[in-house]
Amino acid sequence: LVRLRARLARSQSTLGRGLLALLASDKLDDDVWDEIEETLITADVGVEATGVIVARLRERTRVLGTRTAAELRGLLAEELTAALDPDLDRSLKSAHDGRPAVILVVGVNGAGKTTTCGKISRVLIADGRTVLLGAADTFRAAATEQLATWAGRVGAEIVRGPEGGDPASVAFDAVKRGIDTGVDTVLIDTAGRLQNKVGLMDELGKVKRVIEKHGPVDETLLVLDATTGQNGLAQARVFTEAVDVTGVVLTKLDGTAKGGIVIAVQRQLGIPVKLVGLGEGPDDLAPFEPAAFVDALLG
Ligand code: GDP
Repeated sequence: LVRLRARLARSQSTLGRGLLALLASDKLDDDVWDEIEETLITADVGVEATGVIVARLRERTRVLGTRTAAELRGLLAEELTAALDPDLDRSLKSAHDGRPAVILVVGVNGAGKTTTCGKISRVLIADGRTVLLGAADTFRAAATEQLATWAGRVGAEIVRGPEGGDPASVAFDAVKRGIDTGVDTVLIDTAGRLQNKVGLMDELGKVKRVIEKHGPVDETLLVLDATTGQNGLAQARVFTEAVDVTGVVLTKLDGTAKGGIVIAVQRQLGIPVKLVGLGEGPDDLAPFEPAAFVDALLG
């Protein structure tokens, strides 16, 4: 939690401290509530969620009468946590029925897919499990090289295809090899050129169908860059429409003052945020736990 706090420092000062200072105002009048609303919207919480959070806080502070700093922090934490659907299942699927868990990783270029594949491998391997990475982003030689570097770094196996090769065929080979060698998890890194939306979506659909010749895709993780804000959310919808996304990984939360984007993503996509990226290193990935996250955010 200490590390989460340190990594969320920028969001913390904007959202957490700003809101707590406003709530501690002598008089909670309309102007103060407008400012609270603005702070939430500026932190990318989204208009709909902000409306709900402010209405509930308003009512609860009114009923409460006396307001100590601790009480206000408690109310705020409860409302922000409630906005994050704390009861959703955020675990990653693991190996079952003697076959590996197959995880497809999608998202626009630069969102952090390859890095996230590396970090997830790190966590699983530290937990004593085996991981195979499939380099299905065959369009950029650099992407495959980057994944291979991560594989070496964390001790995962890798299956790669020729540059410009068919991504679906690499995915097929990777899952087959994962089954044959009995690994626990196969992670498939994909390309994300959003310029050619139809092409990209066709390609992801094909990757998925081809993997399904071996059995189901257990998990499709959408990697989103937290610093792209509401724009990123619009792009996210393209993916949720094309493939059945089961979880979101929100990266680069260390680099934004707009940590509220977690709430917008959760509410607007209706898909559980399962993991958050808090830096570029192998250990900079954390499971997303709403209450702990909000606690860190409030400092
Ligand atoms: P991809 O194109 O989606 O595979 O994205 P990459 O994994 O290549 O990541 C793009 C850039 O974002 C790289 O420079 C990564 O080091 C960086 N990156 C990825 N995740 C995070 C994160 O959680 N925090 C920060 N600060 N940088 C990240």
